[in-house]
Amino acid sequence: TNTILLASRPQGLPTAAQFQFETRELPEPTAGQVLLKTLYVSVDPYMRGRMSAAKSYVAPFEVGQPMAGGVVAEVVTSHADALPVGSMVVGNLPWQEYSVADAKALNRVPADKAPASYFLGLLGMPGLTAYFGLLDICQPKAGETVVVSGAAGAVGLLVGQLAKIKGCRVVGTAGSDEKVAHLKALGFDEAINYKTTPDIAQALAAAAPGGVDCYFDNVGGAITDAVYDLLNKHARIALCGQISTYNATEAPVGPRPEGKLLKTSTKLQGFIVSDYASRWPEGVQQLTQWYAEGKLKGEETITEGFDQIPAAFLGLFKGENTGKAVVKVA
Ligand code: NDP
Repeated sequence: TNTILLASRPQGLPTAAQFQFETRELPEPTAGQVLLKTLYVSVDPYMRGRMSAAKSYVAPFEVGQPMAGGVVAEVVTSHADALPVGSMVVGNLPWQEYSVADAKALNRVPADKAPASYFLGLLGMPGLTAYFGLLDICQPKAGETVVVSGAAGAVGLLVGQLAKIKGCRVVGTAGSDEKVAHLKALGFDEAINYKTTPDIAQALAAAAPGGVDCYFDNVGGAITDAVYDLLNKHARIALCGQISTYNATEAPVGPRPEGKLLKTSTKLQGFIVSDYASRWPEGVQQLTQWYAEGKLKGEETITEGFDQIPAAFLGLFKGENTGKAVVKVA
């Protein structure tokens, strides 16, 4: 089968040279295993971390071994009663057109509930990240102001929609005028193009005249520095991601925000969505219900073709996606 390997570890921004295409023999599936045909591959910012050797919350990818991540696939050969041929599954699988996996490591996709790719976005890992980060850590109350950075991405678009469900004033930052218009059309009260606004601090202050009660941080850097100046008493910050620093070659430096957090009695919590693994069924159930009721939209940017997976991944760092970035393979 065709596979995409990590060819070398990036220094700074990754390039196409970090990926190598190869054809590999697949083993025959044995008892309890299935042969899978890949339908959709998820590309996610956290994969940048796994391309580096540095220790993190998931082990690094190995050079010369396949890249891997969230994949929706169809069972084409089955040696597992629970997954008959034709079932649709989601799991952590290699970037391959076909793969062999233990049925136990896969979850069945209820294809009647939503498009299959949504199990990589709205009803998958990013959806749960938005759900637990906003609702459990920030606990937004009606009338409060919620700021979300990276607002037009997979997680951010959902954070904003969830905050609207909770009756909040929602302010988002994103990297193009098209994204800003899109956020407003989705119900965001204010949206700011951080790439073109001359003064992000001023723009945020104008968009959040009553200060910030909740901040869902996807990006870090200068946007986050500016939000910290607007925190209200007892603000809550869900520290979800720091994409503006993922390709940095030197330790990022900046203002020391601790005094601002102290004076406002702010609660700041970093989290990894897997911290909530025991509550995933609750999250999926609620997100599925809000989606069915039309209260949540599961937007995505779909790129077509197995050979386009690296480009779609690299596109995350150029802001090419709106909503969840997914590659349709078959
Ligand atoms: P997105 O769909 O948001 O894709 C990445 C987006 O980030 C791009 O579209 C781009 O949009 C923006 N971006 C890229 N570079 C920069 C930069 N230098 N400064 C500001 N924005 C930038 O990805 P996800 O929604 O999947 O992830 C969002 C964040 O959440 C990431 O930081 C990710 O690591 C984190 N995350 C954390 C999880 C956890 O468990 N803690 C789980 C899942 C995600 P734009 O046009 O606006 O620049």
